[in-house]
Amino acid sequence: MTTHDPLHDPILSGDRRALARAITLVESTRPDHRERAAALLDGLRDTGREALRIGLSGTPGVGKSTFVEAFGLMLTGQGKRVAVLAVDPSSARTGGSILGDKTRMEHLSRDANAFIRPSPAASHLGGVARRSREAVALCEAAGFDIVLIETVGVGQSETMVAQISDLFVLLLAPAGGDELQGVKRGIMEIADLILVNKADGDLKSTATRTVADYAGALRLLRKRPNDPEGFPRAMAVSALESSGLADAWEQMQTLATWRRDNGHWATCRAEQAAHWFREEVRAGLLARLDTPEVRADMTRLARDVAEGRRAARAAARDLLDDLGI
Ligand code: GDP
Repeated sequence: MTTHDPLHDPILSGDRRALARAITLVESTRPDHRERAAALLDGLRDTGREALRIGLSGTPGVGKSTFVEAFGLMLTGQGKRVAVLAVDPSSARTGGSILGDKTRMEHLSRDANAFIRPSPAASHLGGVARRSREAVALCEAAGFDIVLIETVGVGQSETMVAQISDLFVLLLAPAGGDELQGVKRGIMEIADLILVNKADGDLKSTATRTVADYAGALRLLRKRPNDPEGFPRAMAVSALESSGLADAWEQMQTLATWRRDNGHWATCRAEQAAHWFREEVRAGLLARLDTPEVRADMTRLARDVAEGRRAARAAARDLLDDLGI
């Protein structure tokens, strides 16, 4: 019989402190921690629990934390358990953290049915992806119904978050037609739901127009086979006034149910798992190159190539052959 990690049972019983400690473990780069984390995750692999994983992205100031607080409280009010994970690849450069420095989600963080985890302070994008994915798996094992994965709208983070989510929600600000052009096409293409936030007060009519603009832009995109009629969809919300949130939640459920019923959900998760397996192999290969001996060999061979003594491809092949790869 295999003995489980001491964190295994507390996580299964939904203990938030055990969950937090397990996430700290998956964030660690220490080899013994990594090994323990891998065994823990493997032990929690088939709990049969499945959360709805919602990726949420938006530029700073668009209202992500206000939205998560209001949306999260609405869900916990319905008896749901909600986990919030922040993914901030920019912290890899700045050492900052989108959730760590401000008092965000004040009420949600005190809610017994919520779990909020800020982005770790420093890591590279590969590390961020792995940590986020594993943290999602841990939240799922701990029995959370909904896992919100929040990221800032920069660079590759949306694509990465979309690869660990079942649904991807893009939060945008009310804007003029010109600004609409600025929203990167790639992001529109992965969004399942566009929420134009701040549809209140003076901004309400602009928000309504913006929704119409985005709805028009979405109709021009190629229809995706795993979407029902009417998706991707654009809607107006006000996180500040908690309006439109119930409607947005209903749309998310409609889409999730449709995908489940049509087999897309399972296919999508299977594809994601295969994708992350390939990424792990890539990362593992690179890690094997990161030893003093290999680095010395690479430096020597790079010099040979630079000075014309060897061809790049042949030198690379020799190096990999020596490693037995
Ligand atoms: P984040 O950087 O995306 O997390 O944005 P925040 O949630 O910190 O919000 C940025 C600013 O926008 C704050 O001053 C919020 O009060 C304001 N804000 C957020 N949501 C709304 C909204 O629905 N309506 C209005 N009028 N302001 C909002």
